[in-house]
Amino acid sequence: MGQSVAYEDVTSDADVVAWSREYCRDVRREWGVDVRFDLVDWEVSTRAKRRAAAVKRPKLPDATVGDPYDWAGVDGADGRPLPCTLSLTREAFEAFDRGEWEATLRHELVHVEQYQRDGTTDHGAAFRTRAADLETDVHCPTFADPKYVLSCTDCGGLVARRYRDCKLVRERARYRSDCCGAELALD
Ligand SMILES: [Zn+2]
Ligand SMILES: [Zn+2]
Repeated sequence: MGQSVAYEDVTSDADVVAWSREYCRDVRREWGVDVRFDLVDWEVSTRAKRRAAAVKRPKLPDATVGDPYDWAGVDGADGRPLPCTLSLTREAFEAFDRGEWEATLRHELVHVEQYQRDGTTDHGAAFRTRAADLETDVHCPTFADPKYVLSCTDCGGLVARRYRDCKLVRERARYRSDCCGAELALD
């Protein structure tokens, strides 16, 4: 399936959105997620501290998961779900590997699917079922607890945080710190 932006070439925030949006459309097609993308806005957040992504949505009165929402009764909704925003955290995109990012997007798609049908979303039994269908986690993916912290052996300064056993971690002997040109230590 041709992505207009290759994963390896994603650089700007706009690329992150473009790649993620196309991936989500593939998920809808291949996994049968019931989501209306014309009612989804996208943004990239650089301020989220822990959450890899989030669905921002209006809080609706009397909305219950499992109970299809009466969108016809909402002013200005025209019988359709009110738009929600899929907010992607830039640092998480950088920190995660591709599989983790894709699983993150599938998790958020379950939230969007629930919200567009029921007017609200949570991590209850219905979510668990759909998360299993889509082979993703029930817990909102977080990225704030790096597994590997690399520091400069000279000054002790932080060089990088990584969440995976990536090339920088594996081949750290080949890298030098920007601050002192010194070897990297793994804490
Ligand atoms: Zn969640
Ligand atoms: Zn240093």
